[in-house]
Amino acid sequence: MRLRNKPWASEKIAEYPHYIIPEPETKKGKWADVFGNNNPIHIEVGTGKGQFVTGMAKQNPEVNYIGIELYESVIVSALDHLIQEGLPNLKLLNVNAKDLKDFFDESEVSRVYLNFSDPWPKTKHAKRRLTYKTFLDMYKHILIPKGEIHFKTDNQGLFEYSLMSFSEYGLLLKFLSLDLHKSDFEGNVMTEYEEKFSAKGQRIYRSEVQYKD
Ligand code: SAM
Repeated sequence: MRLRNKPWASEKIAEYPHYIIPEPETKKGKWADVFGNNNPIHIEVGTGKGQFVTGMAKQNPEVNYIGIELYESVIVSALDHLIQEGLPNLKLLNVNAKDLKDFFDESEVSRVYLNFSDPWPKTKHAKRRLTYKTFLDMYKHILIPKGEIHFKTDNQGLFEYSLMSFSEYGLLLKFLSLDLHKSDFEGNVMTEYEEKFSAKGQRIYRSEVQYKD
């Protein structure tokens, strides 16, 4: 993602603490209170400009969503979607996903979405891929038993690597599409990257995997 310098971003983020939650470590174990209900919580790691997580929150009001994005300059676009839509079941976190355990208690999350994650193609950077085993460990910790990861990408190399990583970890494969937009999958909400790549004719890969316990 090309980052534009937006010096006003932190000020704007600070103006909307009910949408982009400050000090999210203080909410660990208390997200049901933040949302004011016990609905399942689905998180998107690397939410970018937020089109997917906003679309999902609109489509599924009975699910609580949290979009997690590292960069202020990017998450402000997700904030704009949220301000426009005013969705009560969506929050944003401007944090590094490597620290997820600081923000979520054991079994506090029901599903993890990974969409068009950075591929980190060099083997020496494999540990940075969001489907590397240390990330799978972390998701297992915060997910309910039999929690799921739903993953989409245009990157064949990352997809193949991730399927291997899921399999080596013992995750169950529940859904697989090697060409999502030509499949009969219903209710797909497109991400910004998905729109861009599919417009260029690139196919979209998608999988759903589940922890055994
Ligand atoms: N999911 C969006 C989409 O499909 O349009 C954005 C995809 S973009 C290639 C990946 C995003 O993940 C970037 O916005 C990047 O800043 C974010 N990201 C990467 N590593 C992250 C991390 N460790 N914690 C939080 N966000 C991260």
